[in-house]
Amino acid sequence: MHILEPENPLLERWLSDHGLPPFRAKQIRRWLFGSKIETFREMTNVPSDLREALAHDFQFWTTRIVTHSRAEDGTEKLLLELTDRQRIECVLLREANRRTACISSQVGCAMGCVFCASGLDGVVRNLTAGEMVEQMLRLGRLLPEGERLSHIVVMGMGEPLANLDRLLPALSQAGKKDGLGISPRRVTISTVGLPDAINRLAMGPTYYNLAVSLHAADDAIRNQLVPVNKTIGLRSVLKAADDYFSASRRRLTFEYVLLDGVNDRKEHAARLASLLAGRTALLNLIPYNRVAGLPYQTPNRETIDQFVAILEDRGINIQLRRRKGSRIDAACGQLRRGGQEESTEIAPLKP
Ligand code: SAH
Repeated sequence: MHILEPENPLLERWLSDHGLPPFRAKQIRRWLFGSKIETFREMTNVPSDLREALAHDFQFWTTRIVTHSRAEDGTEKLLLELTDRQRIECVLLREANRRTACISSQVGCAMGCVFCASGLDGVVRNLTAGEMVEQMLRLGRLLPEGERLSHIVVMGMGEPLANLDRLLPALSQAGKKDGLGISPRRVTISTVGLPDAINRLAMGPTYYNLAVSLHAADDAIRNQLVPVNKTIGLRSVLKAADDYFSASRRRLTFEYVLLDGVNDRKEHAARLASLLAGRTALLNLIPYNRVAGLPYQTPNRETIDQFVAILEDRGINIQLRRRKGSRIDAACGQLRRGGQEESTEIAPLKP
């Protein structure tokens, strides 16, 4: 049993089965989420026989750190191996006062976006809620004493809305006072735009920030870049996003990866401006991070500036995403693939 699995036999039930008082659950959770310990044995205010019993019945970590890399800008990336030897990645981002965990939701991805490294081999499986919580804790433990994670973005590998049943318990654990205490306002779920799942999120009761990956302002181009769009269509993606905004009153984010010669021309910017006009939204422009073996290129500076200028002229609220940790391939499924090809240094096994 994974101690971090939020739904798996509740710790409270296990304690009562063992004739132990419920306050121990709180104590144990405080160690798991509020400290940097790595083993049950370090839970010093828990009686030693209970620590032994926990270590016997529960796993603390289910992942193994395969590589840990750090870029000059403070971005850190972990390549984790799961119990079935599948690999996922997660990233710690440092920006001013923010300490953001970027987590994966699936091994691989089924959406097939043509420029993205994560989906090249399709989806292998959904991550469990515990595996998602574990990524947060692994990343939190990279921070120095006195620092804690402040934000979570579900922008790693996978399509989070295709794994909502496990994502929601993981995020709810992150939000709890005796969890990581990260409020839903500081959590962003990035999606390719699956209307049914967005509608489900719109029912609440907890509202996370939603980022919708648009990448094109018309169906012709979006169908090419985001194959699932063929059966969905931009119109229903936007309708679901608007309904989510009405229900949650959370400002929407739209993501748009700039691909040289594909969706980065003046006419694309103009069409995008018309599409987004009148919405309470932030447009996140992401210059393409090249993926080895794929034919797409990053636009040059001039093209990007021109694209930004057209949208700004039309009053669109823009954020141009700076490249974070690109030296360590902290972007978009690149490390896992790299790790499969090269022999990488294996960090010592943590219990
Ligand atoms: N499945 C989710 C999460 C994907 S990762 C989604 O589609 O939103 C988060 C963002 O990074 C998405 O907008 C994705 O399209 C984008 N992305 C993927 N590969 C990229 C690359 N090589 N360069 C820049 N952005 C990329």
